[in-house]
Amino acid sequence: MKSLFISFVVPMYNEQECAGILYARILSICKKIGANFELICINDGSFDNTLSILKKLRKKDPRVKIISFARNFGHQIAIVAGLKYAHGNPVVVMDADLQDPPEIIPQMLAKWRQGFKVIYGIREDREEMWLKKICYKAFYRLLLKMSPLKNIPLDAGDFCLMDKKVVAQMRKFKEDRPFIRGLRTWVGFKQMGIEYHRPPRMAGKTKYSLAKLFHLAFDGLLSFSSLALKMTIFAGLIISFFSISYAAYISISRILIMLKIINSNSVIPGWTTPVVSITFLMGLQFIFLGIMGEYISRIYSQSKDRPPYVIEEKLGLNGKLTGQQDED
Ligand code: UDP
Ligand code: MG
Repeated sequence: MKSLFISFVVPMYNEQECAGILYARILSICKKIGANFELICINDGSFDNTLSILKKLRKKDPRVKIISFARNFGHQIAIVAGLKYAHGNPVVVMDADLQDPPEIIPQMLAKWRQGFKVIYGIREDREEMWLKKICYKAFYRLLLKMSPLKNIPLDAGDFCLMDKKVVAQMRKFKEDRPFIRGLRTWVGFKQMGIEYHRPPRMAGKTKYSLAKLFHLAFDGLLSFSSLALKMTIFAGLIISFFSISYAAYISISRILIMLKIINSNSVIPGWTTPVVSITFLMGLQFIFLGIMGEYISRIYSQSKDRPPYVIEEKLGLNGKLTGQQDED
């Protein structure tokens, strides 16, 4: 059997307390399963001693590799950078704070050997503040409702083991605000989740401020759905519908008044025309905004420059076609 070479991709932002322990845990698990590894640490603009600790680790063990950003670019971008340099197969993406326990990697490997190309961790419970828990739950459910990708896994984070085929696809994305767990789902192939208990952060404080979490949620929702833009059309249609219904109601009332079937007090003079015209025009505006939104969503989708498709395998095809070529 070919020897196993695993790449670990770990973004780190002020993780001086965690870096050494993470390395030790990875080392011990790799020894246990007899795998060689590289630990790619992305120092995402830390201002504590993370970088010097990583350099020390690297001196002891050159399998520790370091990408150090010039400033804080964010967790998701750090993962993108790490994946670009990951030469192993499979590749494991995990957090530095050991909330993604390396001990479930053997289980993931077993599934990978069975042919699964992505095995992601599903958090069966979180030891986190109740408000954060509710927000997470709500976000994943909203994302699932809004996105055309119906297989975006619920309650799964970025912790995963990926086959090199999937990683090769992930490297092709050029999105400047990547949402890793969405892109990973988008790629396809056989994927599955493994439930795990998510322990509290080993040391230090969370590096995801509420603002950062909000941005991540927004990136996820906006880059995988244009529903927000489409909603303006619905709003416009509803407003127009009420405006037309109201106009019809008033017209009928006026006819009934003229025929002396109802009392004239039920219609306030001088009220109908402005209300109907304002609401009708508002409705029209919303509809046109929605149509513009639709065009913007197409421009947005095109500008993300995602590959149009992903091929799992090619049979009996040797040379590439000339002209419009595939890049896979
Ligand atoms: N992280 C990063 N850049 C950031 C924020 C976080 O590289 O701007 C890293 C952090 O060091 C950790 C991982 O992303 O390895 C997840 O962050 P954290 O554990 O603080 O998030 P939480 O688990 O609280 O959601
Ligand atoms: Mg964490």
